[in-house]
Amino acid sequence: MAQRNTWQRDRVREALTDASGFVSAQALHATLRDENTGIGLATVYRALATLAASGEADQLQSPDGEAIYRACSTTGHHHHLICRSCGLAVEIEANEVEAWAQRTAAAHGFTAAEHVVDIFGLCASCSALRAAEPVGERVD
Ligand SMILES: [Zn+2]
Ligand SMILES: [Zn+2]
Ligand SMILES: [Zn+2]
Repeated sequence: MAQRNTWQRDRVREALTDASGFVSAQALHATLRDENTGIGLATVYRALATLAASGEADQLQSPDGEAIYRACSTTGHHHHLICRSCGLAVEIEANEVEAWAQRTAAAHGFTAAEHVVDIFGLCASCSALRAAEPVGERVD
């Protein structure tokens, strides 16, 4: 009986894989609603939480405090560069961060240290778009 809603989780996983970057539960729900799947927002939240717990999806916090998700191409420890305008995500390794985190934790006597480091910014194309926009008080 517990497996009754497996198709819904599979469908949420598919939608997450199709998304190009990090997405919120609301955004994913909107996509699924457009496809008339009949999957409710609460189910999307639950499915995303399950996928994040099993390591099939990365969960992180956007700068405005919203939980965002992505089906990552690797399950190993990694970091992200995320565009806060279009959601584009790039998976990055950060060897310097690993070394720094180990060193800093050890210096304070911490063991079994973990860290979450993600970089939010504007991607190259969003930066270019922004640069092309007319600025401020120009009236023409
Ligand atoms: Zn990732
Ligand atoms: Zn962008
Ligand atoms: Zn790291």
